[in-house]
Amino acid sequence: MNPFELMSVSEKTTARRALGPVDPEQARIKRPQFLAGGTNVLDLMKAGVTQPSRLVSIAHLGLDGIAWSESEGLRLGATAHNADTAYHPLVSQHAPLLASAILAGASPQIRNAATNGGNLLQRTRCMYFYDVALPCNKRDPGSGCSAIGGVTRQHAILGASPACIATHPSDMCVALAALDALVEVEGDSGTQLIPFTRFHRLPGENPEHDTELPADALITAILIPPNRYAGNSVYLKIRDRASYAFALVSVAVGLDLSEDGRVRSARIALGGVAHKPWRIEEAEALLADQRPRGAVLDRVAERILAGAVGQGGNDFKIELARRLIARAITVAAQGTVTNDTACKDQREERQHG
Ligand code: SF4
Repeated sequence: MNPFELMSVSEKTTARRALGPVDPEQARIKRPQFLAGGTNVLDLMKAGVTQPSRLVSIAHLGLDGIAWSESEGLRLGATAHNADTAYHPLVSQHAPLLASAILAGASPQIRNAATNGGNLLQRTRCMYFYDVALPCNKRDPGSGCSAIGGVTRQHAILGASPACIATHPSDMCVALAALDALVEVEGDSGTQLIPFTRFHRLPGENPEHDTELPADALITAILIPPNRYAGNSVYLKIRDRASYAFALVSVAVGLDLSEDGRVRSARIALGGVAHKPWRIEEAEALLADQRPRGAVLDRVAERILAGAVGQGGNDFKIELARRLIARAITVAAQGTVTNDTACKDQREERQHG
C-alpha cells in the first residue's frame, strides 16, 4: 500500500495549485494527479505503475454540463460522465458518431463512472506497461520496450517508433478526432483550445508523454464545432469479444453528401492502430465530389494505411483496417448507424432511476 493524500476542491485555480509546481527531483510516478472518474487512475495505482503522492478530486468543479450553441457547437464538460454524454439528446442530435463511439467502449458500469476529460487521458492498455517487472519505455524511460518481439496483437501498425509500439485505447477519442473537436484547457497562461488531432502525440523517443497537455493545465471542456455529418456517420469496431474489449481496429466515418450522393466532405479516423487516433486529411480529400463506392474506397484506404507495418502478431490489422475503412464509408453513405438502441434498456433504467 502506497500512502497518498486525497484532496477535494471546488475551484479550478485551487485545483491546479494543489498539484504544486513540477518538481524535477520527484519521480514521475509520484507526482500529484487530478482524480475524476478514476477508472484508469486507480487501475494504474493498483498495478504500481503510478504512486501519486496526492490525488486532487475535480468532481465538484461544476465542469459537468453539456450544451449547444450555434457559434460554438457542442460543449461537453470535462467531468460529465461518458454515459451521460452518450445518452444526451444534444449529442444524439448533433454528434451521433460520438454517442456510438462512447457506447462501443468499456462497460456500462465504467461508462457511468468515467468522465470525458479522463477518457482523453487514459493510458495505453499495453500489457507490458502494466507489468512493473518488465522493461517499458513509457513507464520507465530508457528501460526498453518489452512489446517489440513479444505479444503484439493489440499493438500499433502506424506511427510507432523503436521506443514504443503502443496504441491509444479510447473509442471516444476516435470520434472526436473525426469531428474536429477542440480540447479546452486552463493553465497558468490562460485558456487555450488545442485541436484534437494535436492533443495526443506519437511516441517518438519520448513515449512517456501521451499528450501535449501542459503540466500545469486542467482540461475544462471538449468542443465539437457545428458539422454536417450527423446524417451519415458510423463507428465500426472490431475486437476480440463482443463487449468490454479494446479495438483491434475501429473506424469512425462522417460524410456530408450532396443530393446526388456525391461527397462534399468526409471525415475518417482510425482507432486501435496507433499511439493516437489516426487521421489523414489527404485521404479524406480523395472522396471530394466522388460517389463513395468502388475503386475510390481502395485509394482512400491505401492512403490512410501508407507506411503501415506489422509487428508479427498484428500483421492482420493492415488488411483488416483496409476492409473496415471501405465498409465504414459504404455504411455511412447509407445513413447514420447508431448502437444506442442496443443500450435502450440501460438508458431507460437511467432515466427512470
Ligand atoms: Fe511500454 Fe510502449 Fe513498449 Fe508497451 S509498447 S512495453 S507501453 S514502451
